[in-house]
This record gives sequence, structure tokens and C-alpha cells, in this order.
Amino acid sequence: MSQPSTSEVERLPCLYCGERYGPDEVARHTEPVECGPCITCVGKPACFECRLMYCVCGVHRYDG
Ligand SMILES: [Zn+2]
Ligand SMILES: [Zn+2]
Ligand SMILES: [Zn+2]
Repeated sequence: MSQPSTSEVERLPCLYCGERYGPDEVARHTEPVECGPCITCVGKPACFECRLMYCVCGVHRYDG
């Protein structure tokens, strides 16, 4: 588990959140979410965090 292997190459960091994801998380990081009125985050995958102050999106709204 802790040893790096050649399969590491396949795990590129996500374009949106920077996380390296496994095969079971591909959908979360690549599948577009049609979330609504916020034009900044519509069509982004679920892992994307929208930093827009007025974002009303329940999927992407930055919570922190
Ligand atoms: Zn991601
Ligand atoms: Zn959104
Ligand atoms: Zn948004």
C-alpha cells in the first residue's frame, strides 16, 4: 500500500480539486454536474468547489 508503483502514473491530479483519485472516484471528479443558475460552476464535476460569493449551488458551493 505504501510503496509507490507504476500505476501511480495513471493517477493524475484532478484538474478541479488537485486530488489524486482512484478508479472508484472517477465519476466524482470527471462527470459534469448540471447544477443550476451559477454559471461559474455549472457543468463542473462534483468535487469542484465554487468560490463565488453568491453561488447558490448546493453541489459546488464552497463551505468553509
Ligand atoms: Zn476532483
Ligand atoms: Zn454548481
Ligand atoms: Zn457556483
